[in-house]
Amino acid sequence: MRNYGRFGLLLCYFGLVCCKSAVDPDLYNEYWDQKEPLPEFLERLRQTLYGPEYNDYPDYRVLPNEAKDTRGKLQVVPSWPSHKTTAVIGQVGGIALDSKGDIVVFHRADRRWESGSFGTSDRISPLLGPIQKDVLLWISNETGEIIKQSGAGEYYMPHGVTVDKDDNIWITDVGLHQVIKIPKDPNAAKLVLGEKLVPGSDVTHFCKPTDVAVASNGEFFVADGYCNGRIMKFSPEGNFIGQWGHVSTGAPLGNFDLHIPHSLALDESRDRICVADRENGRILCYTAGLNGTKEGEFIKRYEPQRGTIYAIEFDSSGKLFAVNGPGFPVTEGFTLDTMGNIEEFWGPTNNGFPGQPHDVTVSRDGSNVFVGDIEGSPKLWRFSSTEVPVKTVGK
Ligand code: ZN
Repeated sequence: MRNYGRFGLLLCYFGLVCCKSAVDPDLYNEYWDQKEPLPEFLERLRQTLYGPEYNDYPDYRVLPNEAKDTRGKLQVVPSWPSHKTTAVIGQVGGIALDSKGDIVVFHRADRRWESGSFGTSDRISPLLGPIQKDVLLWISNETGEIIKQSGAGEYYMPHGVTVDKDDNIWITDVGLHQVIKIPKDPNAAKLVLGEKLVPGSDVTHFCKPTDVAVASNGEFFVADGYCNGRIMKFSPEGNFIGQWGHVSTGAPLGNFDLHIPHSLALDESRDRICVADRENGRILCYTAGLNGTKEGEFIKRYEPQRGTIYAIEFDSSGKLFAVNGPGFPVTEGFTLDTMGNIEEFWGPTNNGFPGQPHDVTVSRDGSNVFVGDIEGSPKLWRFSSTEVPVKTVGK
């Protein structure tokens, strides 16, 4: 397999050499002299071949069998959350960490997203009113018990949740077609974007928006979503700044073709906003426009070859934690290094998750990972690479 893979890689390079640019013959000879080209060498070769267009080419793909050897750093924490918590959690739309390291969960309680939940116009079934149970839960990272809860009678189909640096909560509801900021101060007014229960594709409407990412300057991004295939950027007050992306219509896939942008991850230190292009199985990264750059310029794409990708999140070092979806032999979590190579697979068993992970959140140092699930039981998972889970895992 390895020889075949290497041969394929060379063919690929050879094709590009013929069509695009001449490569230094010394570099070629060096290639043949190596039994196992080191990643640094391949990187140099790619830079030579692709030059300034380098970022337009997909990243080198790691063979799953090689990467499997590193499994086991992140271990499941078996007693978390508590039985009492597990008993009340329904389908988990979103999961996030607050500044104390506790977990905020946006779940659907006794509601499930099923085939009859939405009509053909993307409007939620008129038979479904707001969920009458608390759908926002704060759960202790230490004990796994529910600390606080709210949201009964307000939300229709919970999806994404994000906590900003000031502990304000941002949610998306695919039934409401709205993005809502719930301030930490209970007396402050909510910021509500989108028209309640009305899908749309202009800059004042969303259609089943999936996720929000909030920068430290207050600007925020929305992945919109199940029907629109775009990323939108707003000012802290909720004024529209810009948008990019469109629904993909099939191969070949360009860098702005999206089929359910399902999860956002923001890396402010590198001024990049990345999106899980769920059904296309890709992760696409664009400029966030936070450092004087223009937002929405394509930077890079990762194609980890794990089927659909449901959720992504950065730790502070720029590693990306992801979960894949159904249709691939193993549903599991994996960690990409900053080059986009898979450095670790993780999950509750070697066969991955029994259900369907839907969202992921990560402590700042990457040592604690939490996953929310929409199918299996339990619907919340904690993984830790430290022997005794640390008391505070927040951002
Ligand atoms: Zn979803």
